[in-house]
Parts: sequence; C-alpha cells; structure tokens
Amino acid sequence: MTSMKIKSAAAPPPAARPSLAVASPLPHDVRVSFEFFPPKTEKMEEILWDSIQRLAPLEPAYVSVTYGAGGSTRQRTHATVVRIRRETMLEPAAHLTCVGSIREEIDEVARQYWRSGIRHIVALRGDPPEDMDRYAPHPGGYAYASDLVAGLKRVADFEISVAAFPEVHPQAASTEADLDNLKRKIDAGATRAITQFFFDADIYLRFLDRARAAGVTVPIVPGILPVTNFARVVQFAAICGTRVPGWMADLFEGLDDRPETRRLVAATVAAEQCRALYANGVNDFHFYTLNRAELTYAICHMLGVRPKAEPTGRELKAAP
Ligand SMILES: Cc1cc2nc3c(=O)[nH]c(=O)nc-3n(C[C@H](O)[C@H](O)[C@H](O)COP(=O)(O)OP(=O)(O)OC[C@H]3O[C@@H](n4cnc5c(N)ncnc54)[C@H](O)[C@@H]3O)c2cc1C
Repeated sequence: MTSMKIKSAAAPPPAARPSLAVASPLPHDVRVSFEFFPPKTEKMEEILWDSIQRLAPLEPAYVSVTYGAGGSTRQRTHATVVRIRRETMLEPAAHLTCVGSIREEIDEVARQYWRSGIRHIVALRGDPPEDMDRYAPHPGGYAYASDLVAGLKRVADFEISVAAFPEVHPQAASTEADLDNLKRKIDAGATRAITQFFFDADIYLRFLDRARAAGVTVPIVPGILPVTNFARVVQFAAICGTRVPGWMADLFEGLDDRPETRRLVAATVAAEQCRALYANGVNDFHFYTLNRAELTYAICHMLGVRPKAEPTGRELKAAP
C-alpha cells in the first residue's frame, strides 16, 4: 500500500470541503455506470444476469465488463458484452488490455466488437498473469494503455475510457509521470477516465485539482468500491496502492462473522463517500458491483438514483 504525496497548493484543506448531510435533499442529477466481471460458471452467470436485471432500471450511462488478468477471459468478456448488447437496452463497454497478445490479435478482437455493435472500449494496460512477477510488454504487442488507445482509434472510432489513479499507479516513475501518462491516453483519443477505487474523498478531489491544473479536461469519474469483505479489500488495496483509512478498519472491526451488518455498514460508507463527492461538484459515479446488485442499488437509491417511471424504454428487452 502506498500513500499519495499531496503537492497541490490550490486545493483547500480537507476541513474546507463542503459535505452533504443525510438530511439534505436528494440530488436529482446523478449519473451512474456499473462494472461487472464475466461469469465463470452457470451459477455465476445467473447471478450476473439477475444483477443486470436489477440495476438496468436505474438507467446507467453504460455498463462495463472486465477482461481477466493476462487476457484470460477474452471469450467470456466478449460473450457477456455481446449478450448485453443483444438482450438489453443498456450500453455495454468492453474492457480490453495489452497483456499477452500481439497487436494484430488485439486489433482483431476490437474489429469483432465493432462488428457486434460495441462502440465503447475501456482500454487498459492490464496486470500480468499470476505466474508472472511484473509486467513486461508482449513482444509485438501494445506496450502501454496509451499505445492501445491509439491502436483502437486506428481500428474504428470507438468511444474510449481509460484508467486513472488518484493515489498514483504503483509502478509510475513519479506523480508527474503518472499524470503525463493520463494526458498521453487522452491525447491518443480517450474521452473519459475512470479512477481506481479510493476511500478518502479528499484524495480524489485533490487529484482532480492536479489533473485539471495539468490540462486534463475530460470527465474523471470516481470508481466506487462498496466494501463488504474488508480483509480482502485491504489485501487488494495494498496491491493497487490505495490507502485504507484507519476509520474504515474501526468501522468493520468485530464484524467478521456478521455479513448482514457488514453489508449495512458498506452501503453507509459508500453512500457517504459519494455524497461527500457530490457536495464537491461530482455527479458521475462508476460502481465496481462485483456482480452483486443489492449493495450498489441501495447506494444509488441514497444518491437519488431511482428507476425511471414506467415504461423506461431502457430496461431489458426480454428476459435472458
Ligand atoms: C477502471 C479500471 C478498470 C480496470 N479493468 C481491468 C481489466 O478489465 N483487466 C485488467 O487486467 N486490469 C484492469 N484494471 C487494472 C489495470 O490494468 C492496472 O491497474 C494496470 O496496472 C494499469 O493499467 P493502465 O491502463 O492504467 O496502464 P498504463 O496507463 O499503461 O500505465 C501503467 C503504468 O505504466 C506507466 N507508463 C505508461 N506509459 C509508460 C511508458 N511509455 N514508459 C514507462 N512507463 C509508462 C504508468 O505511469 C503506470 O505506472 C483496471 C483498472 C481500472 C482503474
């Protein structure tokens, strides 16, 4: 786990940031998007589709489907994204990574997406497969996400989102180099950044200040991870360089054997995080759903995001 060195002089101190009390009127201008992962088994497929069905009436701007480490889920990601396109009115976005493939293979995957009507790609470098210590560009492959963005734009005029790291990517040479990298990805054709998950709203807001000061003007959408398994998130956060504040450990303390209580705490923590961001002008949120709808649904509800009046016109076309 690493912590960010804060350099921005322009950002007001944390205490000066407005917050939103639970008693405040609900926002009416919040936009959401949801991330899912491709299912491995029939049971997981059922859970995914139940979740999609539950969350669809909230009319997300798009729903994205991840690409397993090392490109391990290529077929499953493709099948899931295409099924979302075919069977729902949702706008699907396919994650695609540079890892383990030559450029021509990745270009062909992209062409298949385009032919299947997929217009939005989340373009990433990707993490190395488990049997590899550290990332090394594949010979003949796209080395970094910025190269992939440029390559995808050569294939077709995709809408492209990329990753951003409020607490700096763990392998970045410096905070400045990481921001330069984000700019390269935007210059190559990306029109949105989605952040790695974080828990301290102020870290995101300071990152936003730095990015804007550096001339990044595209939306930088906060990635929100509702936490239910605290121990696992601590491990994952250490790998991603996300700081886990002490108050979170306090909140989850003693709840290891109380999953229901953990879920209630998780919804409260994430909703508070989002409302603090909203009070500071953020109204676009990307949720890492982990294919579980209820928690994300509850948080959206607390953000004033409700199913649209019937008929919504964007619900599932037909039961899958
Ligand atoms: C929203 C989101 C979704 C994700 N989805 C997936 C997924 O579906 N599948 C998956 O495997 N992973 C996923 N990841 C994880 C991501 O692949 C990793 O965090 C990865 O380590 C970095 O990806 P990137 O696209 O930011 O890489 P890049 O933008 O390429 O940056 C990676 C690192 O390389 C550095 N760098 C960039 N260019 C150069 C250069 N020319 N020379 C030297 N250093 C350079 C950067 O500063 C950074 O430290 C996701 C992450 C986020 C935030």
